[in-house]
Amino acid sequence: MKYGRFRIATQTVVFLLMFAIPLLNVYELYFITGTYYALNVGGLGVADPVVILQAMFASGQLTLPLLSAAVFPIFVALIMGRVWCGWLCPYLFISDRVESLRQFIRRKVFKVDHPVANREVQNSFRANFIRFSFLITGTAFGGMLGIPVLNYISAPGILSTEAMIFVKERSFSIEILFVLGIVGLQLTLLPRFWCRMFCPTGTLLSLIRSPQTLRVDSLSKHPTTPCCKEISCSDVCPMGLQPYRESRDLLCANCGQCIDACKHDRLRFYSMGSA
Ligand code: SF4
Ligand code: SF4
Repeated sequence: MKYGRFRIATQTVVFLLMFAIPLLNVYELYFITGTYYALNVGGLGVADPVVILQAMFASGQLTLPLLSAAVFPIFVALIMGRVWCGWLCPYLFISDRVESLRQFIRRKVFKVDHPVANREVQNSFRANFIRFSFLITGTAFGGMLGIPVLNYISAPGILSTEAMIFVKERSFSIEILFVLGIVGLQLTLLPRFWCRMFCPTGTLLSLIRSPQTLRVDSLSKHPTTPCCKEISCSDVCPMGLQPYRESRDLLCANCGQCIDACKHDRLRFYSMGSA
């Protein structure tokens, strides 16, 4: 089964929803309100786990509203893994387009045949070390100051807030420059760096898993060497993994792109509990 079309469809819906929610509110329809920092859907609160974590550290307590806003994202992550990143996040939707543009420029302008960024930046241990250090430092710093500093660098949260400002005021705030900055860096010097090495939301979601959580399984007989010469799975991985041997890495966002790319059907979605 190919997942690409479903993935783009869900990403597109979530991207458009950023604009649809404030538009509904403008017309005084309030069934759904908020941004991707925190939503209220028919009275049910759903929040980015990083927002909840910071609120907990800043206030020193875990209140009932905070706890209930965490239930849905934790439940989904426990069953499906980091699907927020792989299938829904509006920033990854943009990042995918930016990476396609980067590769197009490399092919057409610089005549570089090699399709992808990932073979240039692979080092999942270093990426995990950087992003977990960043999350811990940001949370501790924010807790000490009593300010949710990580919210100011949440790409999906910023995008969603900017969409709301645009719909309501036909303008953008200065925070849009942060997203434009990381997009510019991804296009030029640091392909795919934000989701791989910094995003606090993606990092925290990586930790919410159980032995039963959905993951990508490799059917390769030689797990440390590539199954084929093309290594097309590594070429498409947005997290810079080598899926034939690293699909269990905490970086994996269960996007399914490696499964679609493998010409030999050696990758598939699998639950860890049945491995
Ligand atoms: S790592 Fe962050 S920006 Fe990237 S897809 Fe996940 S939530 Fe979105
Ligand atoms: S290993 Fe596969 S499923 Fe995981 S992030 Fe990479 S391409 Fe997506």
